Amino acid sequence: MRTLTKATIVDAVSAMCIDANQNLPADVLAALQQAKDRETAPAAKEILRQLLENAELAKTTGLPLCQDCGLGVFFVELGEDVHIADGSLREAINAGMVQGYKDGFLRKSTCDPFTRKNVGDNSPAIIHFDIVPGDTLKICMMAKGGGSENMSRVMMLTPAQGFPGIREFVIRRVAEAGSNPCPPVLVGVGIGGNFELAAINSKKALMRAVDDTHPDPAVAAMEADLLTSINRLGIGPMGLGGATTCLGVKIKVAPCHLASLPLAVNIQCHSARHKEVIL
Ligand code: SF4
Repeated sequence: MRTLTKATIVDAVSAMCIDANQNLPADVLAALQQAKDRETAPAAKEILRQLLENAELAKTTGLPLCQDCGLGVFFVELGEDVHIADGSLREAINAGMVQGYKDGFLRKSTCDPFTRKNVGDNSPAIIHFDIVPGDTLKICMMAKGGGSENMSRVMMLTPAQGFPGIREFVIRRVAEAGSNPCPPVLVGVGIGGNFELAAINSKKALMRAVDDTHPDPAVAAMEADLLTSINRLGIGPMGLGGATTCLGVKIKVAPCHLASLPLAVNIQCHSARHKEVIL
């Protein structure tokens, strides 16, 4: 049994929250750069240049990448042989997030759903736990903005609709979202499972690198097909037209009920802020 202290987790999570809000992942930066090099439309090229300049400014000044610093979403893989010494894991992650948003001068975005009163410290962290074999603790953090999250959807398709139905729904969702999620976007797609698992998987899928390839060739082909089709929409960077509406489509598949075909589409903006740490 390996022991981790609460302070170790708090410090690591705090640092991740600040890092995520100041430094775009290298794969996202590379995808934005490649898109800028490919674009021929002047407005699209200029927007992509500005997004890259914004990322560089955030990195060098320590200011957040976006005014919306997002809700703190965490995917946690807790090894069965890990013991937290002096508190619960949920408390430690939440405390780390609160600390990071305070120390990093990041905007606090959680509020009461009815009164709309700001909670004040960005809590509670939204945490999804998985228990896995081993003696390590892996924490993935996503700072998820409201604009892109609002454009996400869950849909229970009928089994007979199959991939054509999935394809039609995903493309229509991105088309209807238009400029709202601050394109170019990343599109996470959860297929199968049930109502809630499809939604969680659609967000988990966004943790993959932009330039990776799904290990199942059939799913990889679906991702490539959706990416090409979405980019044909012509929405372009920030909705001003162009060839780059989407940087990547990532699908996560799970077995489902005989009577169902659950589908979730989680849209991520160009400010795809996520980090991970293994303790
Ligand atoms: S959708 Fe993303 S880039 Fe746009 S305002 Fe929200 S967090 Fe910022």
